[in-house]
Order: sequence, then structure tokens, then C-alpha cells
Amino acid sequence: MRVARAPSARRCLCRPRAGRRTWLHRAHSTNAQADPEASGMARAQQNFNSVGVGLFFSLFGGRQSLALPHLAAPDIRHVDWAALRAAGFSGLVFDKDNTLSLPFALEVEPRLQESLSRCLAAFEGRAVLYSNSAGLQQYDPEGKEAAVMEAALGIPVLRHVDKKPGGGCTELEAHFGCPASDLIMVGDRYLTDIAFGNRHGMLTVHVQPLTAAGEPYGVWLARRVEEFWVARWTAAGVHPPAHGRVPYTELAKHLGDPSPGQ
Ligand SMILES: [Mg+2]
Repeated sequence: MRVARAPSARRCLCRPRAGRRTWLHRAHSTNAQADPEASGMARAQQNFNSVGVGLFFSLFGGRQSLALPHLAAPDIRHVDWAALRAAGFSGLVFDKDNTLSLPFALEVEPRLQESLSRCLAAFEGRAVLYSNSAGLQQYDPEGKEAAVMEAALGIPVLRHVDKKPGGGCTELEAHFGCPASDLIMVGDRYLTDIAFGNRHGMLTVHVQPLTAAGEPYGVWLARRVEEFWVARWTAAGVHPPAHGRVPYTELAKHLGDPSPGQ
């Protein structure tokens, strides 16, 4: 969907150059505390996502808006979760790796813990992790990894059949008891997390990956391709899909600097 460019609104979707340099510096200096038990299978799973590749090529047919987030922030500390709850959203759907924790780590990234606690409080704990590994039937059929993750992170892990961005959202709507349009999808990948959320009418929040360390080369390459095209489409005036609860012109109100203590 192409609409007239709105300079003031576009700013909220573009990352400041300074912030980008900071992230890149951190990405190469962070010592990722990945779980030593993380299996090679999980890494291989993340290396290739056939549905994501198919979706990528379909975007050139005019569906670029599916890859564009409603909100783009350095990390979850920069989102006003209480305001989004007040806007009527009912639940949160989090990606895990590089959104809440380092890749394959079984703990919430310490610098995000306070913000996550406030976020969960604002939504009365109504949140799930929706991962392309733990809880995915193809990879974790008995939910063993999901159970470990739930115990470690304190957030339910949704058991589901399809890998993001493919599949429906029946499991999510059943879990929350509301339509997907009342949910917020939060993740670090445009063609998996954001595209999945937009396909189902959720509000989508993109965060910068916490680190580049420990990621498979395929993920690193896919991320570079996504970032290139998303920047190009945004500069061309493509907007994310319209969302009934938050008009495009008011999206920026839900972003800001972290509160004291976060
Ligand atoms: Mg991720």
C-alpha cells in the first residue's frame, strides 16, 4: 500500500543514525551468554525459513506494507506500554531471541528486565512467547524446550504448528480470547515477526536485535536484506497496514525515552 509521505510520522519509523551506530558497536562487543545446551538443530532451523523467503518475493508484487512495523524502537524500554494498554490492546506476543533475550539464552536480558516487568504489569500478565523454535510442533513436538523456557523466563510459550510468518493465529486468539487485532506483536525480524503480525491485523513493534553475536550466518544475511528493503520502502513512502486502534499519525505518541529506573 502506497500512501502520501508524512514526514513527521515517518520519523517515528526511522532509527536515528546515532542509535544505529551504538547498536552496531554493541553488537560486536557484547559477549552473548548463549545457552551451551542450545542445539545445532535450533540454529539450523533459524538458518532457513521457506515461508519467509516466499513472502519476501511476494512483497515485490505490492505487499511491502506487510514488512513495515507500526512502531520501531531500539528496544522495549522505548515503548509506552501503558498507553498501548489504554488504547485498548489486550495482549502481547513476544518473539524471544534478540527481542527479550540473547539468542538461545534462557534468561531475559538484564537491561530489559525492569521494562518487561512494567510492560507485563500494564497488561496484567497477558503475554506469550511465540518462537520459531520452542513450542513449534515441528521442532519441539513435546514442548520440552517450551517448558524449560517458561520456567526460565516466567512467560508462557505458545505451542503452535506453523513457523512465522506462515500459518494462522488460531492458537493465539484461543489463548487470549480476543481477535488478533487486539494483540501486539513484538520482534526483531521484519520478515518473520512483523510480517506475521501484520498479516493478522496486529499492531506490530520492531526492536533492534540485542546482539549480532551467536547468530547463524543465514540469519545475519537475511537481516541485512530485510533492513535494506525496509529502509528503501519506507523512504519511498510505504506505510504499515492501517490499524483501527491507533491511527498512523498518532503512532509516535507511543514511543519515547526510557522512564527513570529502566
Ligand atoms: Mg528474534
